[in-house]
Amino acid sequence: MAKIKREEPIKFSLPRRIKRLEDLAYNLWWVWNPEAQRLFKEIDALLWESSYHNPVAFLRDVERALLNAATNDRYFLDIYDRVMREFDRYMGEKDTWFSETYPDFSDELMAYFSFEFGLHESLMVYAGGLGILSGDHLKESSDLGIPLVGVGFVYTYGYFSQRISEDGWQQADNVPIDFDALPLIRILDENDEPVKIRIDLPGRKVFARIYQLNVGRVKLYLLHTNIPENDPNDRHLTDRLYISDLELRISQEILLGMGGVRALRALGHEPTAWHMNEGHSAFLTLERALEYVESGKTFEQAVDIIKKTNIFTTHTPVPAGNDEFPLWLVDKYFVQVWSDLGLSRDDFINIAKIKQSWGGDAFSMPILAFKLSEHKNAVSELHGQVARQMWNFLWPDKEEDDIPIGYITNGIHTETWLARRTGLLFSRYMGADWQDHLDEPEFWAQIENIPDEAFWQVRQHCKRRLVAYIINRGRQKWQTANVHPVQTIASGVLLDPYALTIGFARRFATYKRGNLILRDYDRLLKLVTDARKPVQFIFAGKAHPADEPGKQMIQEVYRAVKDARFGGRLAFLEDYDMNIARYMVQGVDVWLNTPRRTREASGTSGMKAALNGVLNFSVLDGWWREGYNGSNGWAIGQDVDLYADPQVQDEADALSLYDIIENEIVPLYYDQRSGDNLPCDWIARMKESIRTLGGQFSTRRMLKEYMTSYYDSAMHSGIEERNGKEKAG
Ligand SMILES: *Cc1c(COP(=O)(O)O)cnc(C)c1O
Repeated sequence: MAKIKREEPIKFSLPRRIKRLEDLAYNLWWVWNPEAQRLFKEIDALLWESSYHNPVAFLRDVERALLNAATNDRYFLDIYDRVMREFDRYMGEKDTWFSETYPDFSDELMAYFSFEFGLHESLMVYAGGLGILSGDHLKESSDLGIPLVGVGFVYTYGYFSQRISEDGWQQADNVPIDFDALPLIRILDENDEPVKIRIDLPGRKVFARIYQLNVGRVKLYLLHTNIPENDPNDRHLTDRLYISDLELRISQEILLGMGGVRALRALGHEPTAWHMNEGHSAFLTLERALEYVESGKTFEQAVDIIKKTNIFTTHTPVPAGNDEFPLWLVDKYFVQVWSDLGLSRDDFINIAKIKQSWGGDAFSMPILAFKLSEHKNAVSELHGQVARQMWNFLWPDKEEDDIPIGYITNGIHTETWLARRTGLLFSRYMGADWQDHLDEPEFWAQIENIPDEAFWQVRQHCKRRLVAYIINRGRQKWQTANVHPVQTIASGVLLDPYALTIGFARRFATYKRGNLILRDYDRLLKLVTDARKPVQFIFAGKAHPADEPGKQMIQEVYRAVKDARFGGRLAFLEDYDMNIARYMVQGVDVWLNTPRRTREASGTSGMKAALNGVLNFSVLDGWWREGYNGSNGWAIGQDVDLYADPQVQDEADALSLYDIIENEIVPLYYDQRSGDNLPCDWIARMKESIRTLGGQFSTRRMLKEYMTSYYDSAMHSGIEERNGKEKAG
């Protein structure tokens, strides 16, 4: 194995006294430490905004005079010293939850593979919910001390950025990332050459470079193919996320799964267990099997061994949403692999064969992952039921309840999503070390210690901050881009920071019914334009570029947003990302979610809202079916659908939606005010939301469940496997 060096692309020339800003810039720890972000903001708040909160770009561009001034600013240096002490303490911490709970695993390593990682808005290597979950998984692993490494891609263009045309049609812009302005660390060998891995595809070899990203104590390795060694076509393999071209897609997935294993090997890592987040990385099972077959095992023996250390999480409750490849492509790309594995074509295809609705066969990535993983889970209780039903055919002799697919409900990384000021309230009224007690119910009971008035002021502050941000964005766009005036209004510049505000932000897929609120237009008009008790709505979200009905749904919403009769109280924020998500889940009053039931495997944006005291108003699907207790938010419709016909069910859900807004939400917000104008019952509900949901739907709870339910057992198996190998060798 080559000797590994790590090289940061930019060497900053910073004043000595504050030189370690550089260390901060190259570790995403600052993403969930508001004090660390404040350092950059204190130096140059405008640049911090215009660099999109990216410390590497910030330090590259900041004026030397401002840095020098900071070195003479006692207040700044105070924060600086405190932040650096905390960073060093965190990075050097010996007694983590993991090391204390699992002392036998101190030398082990967990590999975590995902197509996307949503860590921060400046790192566009994510598209949506799946990526945010992966990013939060890494951050929490770091906090708990779980020895985990992530494997994924750094994409040249990431996911597209969204613009809406005047007639409401989504435009997709592809903006290349600036590699040098990101905290991507190049990995070099002893000759200062970039470490590369190779995979063999039909008629060509594809090379990939490996970048390292530090996420607190966790490392994320990102593969990238736009390098001179590759054919022009292959250089584009890691251009974007979720491409529709199947041949590109299968090449990508081979690179992630098989190439990812090779990357870890090239860097000297020997993971004890392997977690596949969704089926995109399932080819890693084949690479692992190949390693054993090459050492003399049969394929069956290899599978027996690797199964015990594979964990697979499924996220897709709809058959059509799952990743599948036509057999001609599998023939083309795997003929060498199955012969190397000692299998016939039929044996190989049969591992993951799935019948298509039109009668033919395809090769299914989730089936491959299910068959070669002992540990299998869905992402909420209801999704567990749906998954057991959906995949029952893989275990034809078992009853649905005995299908070996469990569930661990998703969570969110608390400190990433919590408003800074709400965090300060927690520190002040619930204990300075509140971060250490995130999954303890007794801790959350102390939410009652926060005085209503202080709490409400912070909530109002977050809403004003959201509206100010939206207005600022609208103004900037109006000044610099050639947009029609009505688009500036649609972007939210007429929003009212004191009106009851409902947020709806998520992918525009038809099952999420982003247009449900428009179903009775007149009723909506009345709600929004009520002179005394106005309700305003903020929408955001992208549709997949190939999803025409999704784009039509955006258009329908955008038409309403532009309709002057609403008085500018509806808004559509373009280009939904983690930055907008943070503003919204912290700033609105109510978080609306309207999926067709069982289609939302879990959902996580509502958890972010709940943590911040924003009240969920949602269909009882995914996580909300577990979270809702009758007094911590509102449910749309009942716990079961009453109608088989989705159109009829839509109508019923829309009626429930309007009824609850008119009869419960609006009165609770506007009418029940105390003498000093505090909406006491609303505040009580906010506290109930935080108390009951804040810890339960955190990644703290989630990662501990992964540890006890799956990682623990998989790591034990991995240790046995290694001991067996050592004996045999
Ligand atoms: C949290 C988040 C999501 C996931 O939202 P759901 O609709 O709950 O699945 C998607 N995109 C961004 C940018 C997010 O922050």
